[in-house]
Amino acid sequence: MERAFQTALWLLRPEIVFILGDIFDEGKWSSQKHWEDDVRRFNRMFRHSTDTELVVLVGNHDIGFHYEMDWFKLQRFEKVFNASSTRIVTKKGVNFLLVNSVALHGDGCPICQSVEKELIKLSRDLNCSLQHADFSYVHVSLTVSCVLQHYPLYRVSDAGCTGQDAAPPEERHLLFREKYDVLSKEASQRLLQWFKPRLILSGHTHSGCEVLHDNKYPEISVPSFSWRNRNNPSFILVSESAATRIYLRLQTLRLTEFYSLKFKISIFKTAAHEKKNT
Ligand SMILES: [Zn+2]
Repeated sequence: MERAFQTALWLLRPEIVFILGDIFDEGKWSSQKHWEDDVRRFNRMFRHSTDTELVVLVGNHDIGFHYEMDWFKLQRFEKVFNASSTRIVTKKGVNFLLVNSVALHGDGCPICQSVEKELIKLSRDLNCSLQHADFSYVHVSLTVSCVLQHYPLYRVSDAGCTGQDAAPPEERHLLFREKYDVLSKEASQRLLQWFKPRLILSGHTHSGCEVLHDNKYPEISVPSFSWRNRNNPSFILVSESAATRIYLRLQTLRLTEFYSLKFKISIFKTAAHEKKNT
């Protein structure tokens, strides 16, 4: 994985890299010593120059599934990765909304309440700004172009997925469990209504999926970047100039189909489950 990541960086020279969670395998139960060892290993494997920004999202293997998540594990993760449960990363006028989807359980737990409150405020601020904006030149900066999160939005199964990294036929009809494999229907709809993103990128499922929600919101579940999870670890590269699909365990998007970005980005998912000796 280290070699694949470093080679991709050298070859593609992305301006920003997003890792969509499950950085660790055992973050949910690591002792402090093991946690610190894993963080050191991550920093070594995913080292990068200052020309590349590395942005990390939280996954269930980092802090546990919802029932295992607590403030200690969440804050431990957020401190190391300079992350927060909701944040907007802006690159050249394009807004990426990063969401802690483990906290979208909707059960009123303190962490979920806190994240939902932040999302509602953000959505209101954006909508309010839009209503008072001069669309001729500030529209892009006031909208969320892309939502990134660990869990996919709700889908029944992978049966409707397209894309070269979609699940094999024998797995496509396995039913997903809400709040475990995918977000709940309710949380998914709320995210779409609040932010109306042009693209959603997610991880968690080890296979890829390209799916269109409500006939207008495209989502790509990015396949796993770990050899342990699949025989062809993958990531996606988004580039304005990308015109062809490259078969290097790499999926290239022609971004102009979705929205206009002026730079290359790479999106990885995930490092989870990588064995310690690799
Ligand atoms: Zn996961």
